[in-house]
Amino acid sequence: MERSVKPGDDFYDYANGDWIKRTEIPADRAGIGVFSKLDDLSNKRTLALIEEIAKSNPPAGSEARKVADLFNSYLNESAVESKGLAPIKPHLDAIAAIHDKRELSYALGETLRADVDALNNTNFHTANLFGLWVAPGFNDSDHYTAYLLQGGLELRDREYYLADTEHMRRIRSEYQAHVAAMLKLAGFSDPDSRAARIVELKHAIAKVHRSLADNEDIQKANNTWSQADFAAKAPGLDWTEYFRGAGLQQSSFIVWQPEAFTGESALVASTPLDTWKDWLAYHLVEAYGGVLPKALADERFAFFGKALSGTTQQRPREQRGVYVVDGLLGDAVGKIYAQRYFPAEAKAQAQSMVANIIAVYRKRIEALSWMAPATKAEAEDKLSTLYVGIGYPETWHDYTSYEVKADDLFGNIWRGSLTDYRQHVERLGKAVDRKEWSMTPQTVNAVNLPLQNALNFPAAILQPPFFDPLAPAAANYGAIGSVIGHEISHTFDTEGSAFDSKGRVRNWWTPSDLEHFEAATAQLAAQYDTYKPFPDLSVNGKQTLAENIADVSGVAAAYDGYRASLEGKAAPGQDGFSGDQQFFIAFGQNWGSKTREAALRQQVMTDPHAPAQYRADTVRNIDAWYAAFDVKPGETLYLAPPDRVRIW
Ligand SMILES: [Zn+2]
Repeated sequence: MERSVKPGDDFYDYANGDWIKRTEIPADRAGIGVFSKLDDLSNKRTLALIEEIAKSNPPAGSEARKVADLFNSYLNESAVESKGLAPIKPHLDAIAAIHDKRELSYALGETLRADVDALNNTNFHTANLFGLWVAPGFNDSDHYTAYLLQGGLELRDREYYLADTEHMRRIRSEYQAHVAAMLKLAGFSDPDSRAARIVELKHAIAKVHRSLADNEDIQKANNTWSQADFAAKAPGLDWTEYFRGAGLQQSSFIVWQPEAFTGESALVASTPLDTWKDWLAYHLVEAYGGVLPKALADERFAFFGKALSGTTQQRPREQRGVYVVDGLLGDAVGKIYAQRYFPAEAKAQAQSMVANIIAVYRKRIEALSWMAPATKAEAEDKLSTLYVGIGYPETWHDYTSYEVKADDLFGNIWRGSLTDYRQHVERLGKAVDRKEWSMTPQTVNAVNLPLQNALNFPAAILQPPFFDPLAPAAANYGAIGSVIGHEISHTFDTEGSAFDSKGRVRNWWTPSDLEHFEAATAQLAAQYDTYKPFPDLSVNGKQTLAENIADVSGVAAAYDGYRASLEGKAAPGQDGFSGDQQFFIAFGQNWGSKTREAALRQQVMTDPHAPAQYRADTVRNIDAWYAAFDVKPGETLYLAPPDRVRIW
């Protein structure tokens, strides 16, 4: 803490200042904070489990053998070096052999992967031309539906290609040099002019892309297209060939950004074939650069690690190997992780905190003066049908069809993403499993799955400093309680409020309820628009709105949950702090972090979450915080009561 700072002037600094002063960001990190420290712990534990599995010499064909072979193939750098570019060569040859736009369309279809996730993990990015998300349908939430999302850009947002600031112009010129360098390393002639044409094509794609803030608008995303609609609404790409290449026989799709499909498809027709072939080849080299010889991996790190995030050193290969195993065989390790690191007592205590906070939401909704009884009834239905997963899933992912071979790193990664894609495609049209998880137990995060009306709290976040069965209630409610409240709030935020208790897109609000909700949330968006982490870059209140609503509602609900847990008794003080003070300090310390400038700029532009300090400072919307720290008018964070945003 930094006790010399007034809580009302800079609560984030008050709660974290001394740690911030003392802490250096490690050379191999873009930033450091509570989340990343827990990530390190989880990574270390997972590494030990993988090594244990590898040492046990598991039988051929078993899941454990796959874990061992995948991890060892990643560690065996000399095998990677000696193969050189041979593993990627057949794929590059296939691109070189494309003769016309019809064959190009088929090849573009072959690149489609299930690599986007619009609502659960809010990942709108794929470098492939388009991305597939398989999830319960907007209009039929009982069955898995195919959502198609815009893609084609490697840098994570259109702003990287379009924004006219000095910082972004510099990133663009470094990016073009990086594209040329990768092509050169992959053996392409004339890399500079190829790179210029590839970047120009990306600029054209960026222009037709929907912004992140608009991507989050469900009403604009609910567009059903039949397969035949694509040729009529988005002419250019040979859609029959595209879908054949993708192995998709669905009769209908939800197209998230129709204007981007129209624009990108037109670019397939208007841009020369050779430029598209270079674009495809470059994306392939880039996607697999990390598992090709060191020269390519180093060039990737020089751009993405150094230029884009400000890190100066790569993480040790072993740690990166854990991420590879987590990505492709996460549950195989996760089931052992959960057994070892998440005792039944911790699960029971976390479950009771969730139940308390759900009860708080129910009370808060009942007490809302502005909400109509029918809307309240549906909101309560959503709460009573909410599935809350604690620690680990009830069933584990099946990896039977994933073939892993010893010392075939490129092939293991290639087959991993293809197997994952095919498993997603196979589920289309089938009944939805509402209890399915979207995170592994070893992930330090929590998530709301609006189409399943479900929450997941993985084992790896349910530990100190977020959650400690031995800590005072004030600390647990302030830290993990506000995270639980945050996730429940997503059920009713700008996105969650579009879905009813069955996960269907349905307007269950009366017009006057919606009007009140929109006025309150607009006030919150305006509050965040005023935050300026850099003189030339502000927080986007609309882009971060859903998360900001979740933060303010989450801490409000957790506070009520904390007060209720005292059952009328006085809160025990600790280190000279009252119970309420401990609660808010624990919340503020969730967000203690340091981030390099390049990475923070990237976050402000591409992340639906606001930077950490503003998330801590959202306490300025809570009346109890003013009383706890005696915050007075004139202090920086002070808001007059009518300016404090209350949503639930
Ligand atoms: Zn959230």
